Amino acid sequence: MGWNSLDDMDLAGKRVLVRVDINVPVEDGKVTDDTRIQRIAPTIADIRAKGGLPVLLAHFGRPKGKVVAEMSLQPLVPALEAVFDASVMFCADCRGPAAEAAVAALQEGEVLLLENTRFHAGEEKNDAALAAEMAKLGDIYCNDAFSAAHRAHASTEALAQLLPACAGRLMQAELTALESALGQPQRPVTAVVGGAKVSTKLELLGNLVEKVDTLVIGGGMANTFLAAQGIDVGKSLCEHEMTPTATEILAKAADTGCTILLPSDVVVAREFKAGAENETLAADACPADAMILDAGPATVAAVSDALTASKTLIWNGPMGAFEIAPFDAATNAAASKAAELTKAGRLISVAGGGDTVAALNQAGAAESFTYISTAGGAFLEWMEGKTLPGVAALGQ
Ligand code: ADP
Ligand code: MG
Repeated sequence: MGWNSLDDMDLAGKRVLVRVDINVPVEDGKVTDDTRIQRIAPTIADIRAKGGLPVLLAHFGRPKGKVVAEMSLQPLVPALEAVFDASVMFCADCRGPAAEAAVAALQEGEVLLLENTRFHAGEEKNDAALAAEMAKLGDIYCNDAFSAAHRAHASTEALAQLLPACAGRLMQAELTALESALGQPQRPVTAVVGGAKVSTKLELLGNLVEKVDTLVIGGGMANTFLAAQGIDVGKSLCEHEMTPTATEILAKAADTGCTILLPSDVVVAREFKAGAENETLAADACPADAMILDAGPATVAAVSDALTASKTLIWNGPMGAFEIAPFDAATNAAASKAAELTKAGRLISVAGGGDTVAALNQAGAAESFTYISTAGGAFLEWMEGKTLPGVAALGQ
């Protein structure tokens, strides 16, 4: 693979600049959910165990190049100390004399947290001068923030060019999982793409029809594909202006030999609310005054068959309006099937996306998946086949 990991670095006595994502929720000065801190803990522990000195670089919120007191990273120090079980020093700048002094004073076993990188306008501009100042603070650069890797910023891209660079453990796990799903996957590969709109997932669909064997199109976006085939979808969520694009995607799939699975039956209702009166109909039988809110059981059976015949699954976007029961049924059933096959060692399952992760958690399936990406935008851009600047910069 085109990147180094911590295993490739000699860390003893080295100052390691670690780019992390610690955008944790804070209320009244206290961290209310430390998941993101937990996820970088193995990287910090590994660096310390090998005698390295971790110096953390991170952004927090969107201060837009100015010092914004409410977006200081300082309140995170107690939570970092608790999770890392280490003393965490803090410096109120991520560059300059104060940061240089803080790094020089750092003792083995300790961790140093530098202030929000986005307090400097140069961060989001991928500014070479800012990166050069940050590079003075370390001997090695380690990026453990996959979720920020789709942005070429000074602390994710320019800095990586100036020091020996590697991926942290979380980044490594993410890249390995993604590589196993779309890079060199075990075939057949099925992709499930759902969610609200085709327009937000065009590039994703375009890339997937080239790479996967079966593409399941579900959720609201399936309505646009049904409409493209001349089917009346009533009051369903549908981007009628996108129907030519949907037709193009179907044609491209025919060219590449990708099988497209669209809903054959649907669950319709007249109201968008929990427990709304509903009925299951053929996909081409939605009444003019009703809307499609979920896929039906025949569709779920077809998706289950596709998953059973597959070795790899990549999933983004729920199959229905999963937030309101009973329109979570198709998403839950497909999620349970994928979880069952994964547990049996028959499927590699990778999923990502804000609502997708919520839906898989709600279905109780998330823990059984091979990998769940919480990286949001970076995950989507990677699924679209884009090169992520923060990953490319770790190249050997
Ligand atoms: P992700 O955040 O995982 O990328 P999206 O944001 O693309 O997923 O899609 C999730 C949204 O799609 C959810 O709010 C869900 O209610 C909506 N959705 C799925 N199917 C339908 C449907 N048939 N009609 C309306 N909304 C739908
Ligand atoms: Mg979403």
